[in-house]
Amino acid sequence: MSDGGRIACPGCGRLYPHFDGPTHPYIGASPGCWAVYGEVLAREYGEFGYPDVHRLTVDAYAAQHPGVPSAQSIQSVAGHLIGLYLALERGFPSRVVTSAIRAAAARGGFVWLEPPADRGHIAVRDVIGATNLNDHTARVQEWATAVWSAWSPHAARIRAWATEASRSGK
Ligand SMILES: [Zn+2]
Repeated sequence: MSDGGRIACPGCGRLYPHFDGPTHPYIGASPGCWAVYGEVLAREYGEFGYPDVHRLTVDAYAAQHPGVPSAQSIQSVAGHLIGLYLALERGFPSRVVTSAIRAAAARGGFVWLEPPADRGHIAVRDVIGATNLNDHTARVQEWATAVWSAWSPHAARIRAWATEASRSGK
């Protein structure tokens, strides 16, 4: 898909100028989208002082860019969806979410979940323009909620994975 030299990101579907830049080995993003994500992370690490919402940013981006089936992408997508579930539905703080994702990864046993065709009406480029940390946090929460809602056909299985992981993590 292209539009005047812009290409659709295979993950979020948004159009970005085409250029030959770096991407991630198994997160399915176009170079233009990956670059904007890099800017968002740079703001979080720098200007925003590594805020608690960082965990949600990483999980929302990865879940919106599931890539293609491989051992790495299956584990990555499962872990980030477990993260979205625990943060958004269970209200777990980021530190607890991170250890639960680690426990889930150690446990394994995931399968590829067919990604939803529409992965949410908000994407990373809607987050980059935040005016301050409060605005940034609100945008990331809205983004993560949209992505989690898009994956809702698989919610029962993701909840089960998260529950198994939190049992084995104890
Ligand atoms: Zn994208």
